[in-house]
Amino acid sequence: MAKNAKSISNSLLGESDGQYGRNVIAIPFLVVAVVAEASLLLSPNTNSGSATIVSVILLATAVASFFLFLNKTYVWVNILVPLLYTGSVVSLVIATGSSSSGVGLVMLLSVVWSALYLEIWQSSLIVAVVVVSEFVTSIVPAEVDYAIRVRRVVMFLLISSLIVYAAHEVRNRVTRITTERKVLSDGMQLTIGALEESLRNAAILGHLVDMLNSSNTREEGYEVIQRAAETMFVDGGLVSAFNSSSNQVETKCAWGSFAGECEVFSTEDCWALRRGHEYESKSGEIKCNHLRKSGVQHTLCRPLLAQGEVMGVLTISMPYLVVPIAEIAGIDDPLPQTAMLFGEQLSIWMANFNLRETLRYQSIRDPLTNLFNRRFLEESLTREMSKSARTLEQVSVIQVDIDNFKEINDKYGHSVGDVTLVAIAEVILSLFRDSDVPCRSGGEEFTMLLPNCSWENAHARSEELQRRVAEIQVSTSPQTPMLKPPTLSIGIAASPEHGFTSDALLRSADLALYESKSGGRNKITRALAVTDDRRPVVEPELRSH
Ligand code: GH3
Ligand code: MG
Ligand code: MG
Repeated sequence: MAKNAKSISNSLLGESDGQYGRNVIAIPFLVVAVVAEASLLLSPNTNSGSATIVSVILLATAVASFFLFLNKTYVWVNILVPLLYTGSVVSLVIATGSSSSGVGLVMLLSVVWSALYLEIWQSSLIVAVVVVSEFVTSIVPAEVDYAIRVRRVVMFLLISSLIVYAAHEVRNRVTRITTERKVLSDGMQLTIGALEESLRNAAILGHLVDMLNSSNTREEGYEVIQRAAETMFVDGGLVSAFNSSSNQVETKCAWGSFAGECEVFSTEDCWALRRGHEYESKSGEIKCNHLRKSGVQHTLCRPLLAQGEVMGVLTISMPYLVVPIAEIAGIDDPLPQTAMLFGEQLSIWMANFNLRETLRYQSIRDPLTNLFNRRFLEESLTREMSKSARTLEQVSVIQVDIDNFKEINDKYGHSVGDVTLVAIAEVILSLFRDSDVPCRSGGEEFTMLLPNCSWENAHARSEELQRRVAEIQVSTSPQTPMLKPPTLSIGIAASPEHGFTSDALLRSADLALYESKSGGRNKITRALAVTDDRRPVVEPELRSH
């Protein structure tokens, strides 16, 4: 992450670079001070030995204070150093006995120092001390000789150079701070942008979960997913679901740069599915087989897993950036993280939906024959009857009972009876339309609900059923001959003439079936018209075999 504001403001004093910055400015100051001191000590004009000693002590203390507290940030040291230094210069001027010794100028160093390191009020104190010192030195009698002139020129040169150097240093620091501030501000902008995006994504994910929980069909769910994905991964992507019955992965949603793609592929065609974790492919790297046809260069595949089982794969197109901005600002690229959160929600929904479908399947199907059970028949019949009351379409019910089924069980055993039941159920499943509801309504009884079907059509189907069942071949073992094919007794009822309610219609079909039984079995009987829903009557036999 970019440097914070404190570190930037510290850099004004050179602290962001350790003590380096302070030394860089302070050391030339000290060098000038020592040169001034030395020039007087070696000068023939020096006439006060004690003042010179005081000057040297003061300067030495200033230097020592500076170095002793180099790593501390005591304010008083920053004040003390220029005061000691000023005192040292005053003593030196007094030692030379002349305000025109040329050394007085170096007192200005204290002012420059205070400007660099001190607050305004502290600087004002130093300025006041320097002015007073100048005044003190000005009342000392002057005597200008050649040595003093040379010293003056040298001091002017040194101080001018120092001022230029210090000003240059300050300018450099200001430039550096401005640059650092800009980097910080850009970084903050990016962080704020990333935060805003993650908040927006959290809201989209919340809405997605809510909508998925309310989706009744897979198609509805995938429509919800596609809409959310389009706003989260604007460059494009794919959601593909694993189909356990075909053992293939099928594309369910495609948007952006992948729009219109509809692939069916094997789990081996995706590196993410093979490895069990995300796979990013940039240009020049190995691409997943299922993405070979697409022109997208930079992709990220994330396997959708729930409790270790493959649910599918989420593929997103990664945006093309010459230099990733997030990397410069030191922020993690949010896209893979978003893909992970999105993928987790998809996996959970897919697993839940699979479970819901399995439970529903189990709750409405008969486990032996795979036909619908009686509960589902009753629900469907009620629904179809109320629909037919509106549309006036006929609803037919075919009631089937296997003849003398007990004999098969008794002679060959229950398992052979079961095989016979399954064989008849297979015929039923192959014979009826998707909109029909074929059920196992009892042990060896079946009921077929045929919406929008006249009794004549139901009759034709019943004949076909009897004919196909008569071809069924069941044997007790590979060596034994086939059993005699089973026969069926059938009763047919159709709304509205054989009943206005589902109960009445079923009762009419049952009565017709009993008629087939009592008439000698292997027969089809049509129910008689009813005038009262509680007492249906049965027509004479229609057809016998
Ligand atoms: P009918 O011609 O009068 O219908 O004679 P039936 O023998 O078919 O009728 P019955 O009601 O006397 O016997 C039905 C038999 O169906 C009795 C029962 O053991 C058998 N059954 C019911 N459910 C199953 C099942 O799931 N598997 C097997 N193997 N037999 C079953
Ligand atoms: Mg029966
Ligand atoms: Mg029977």
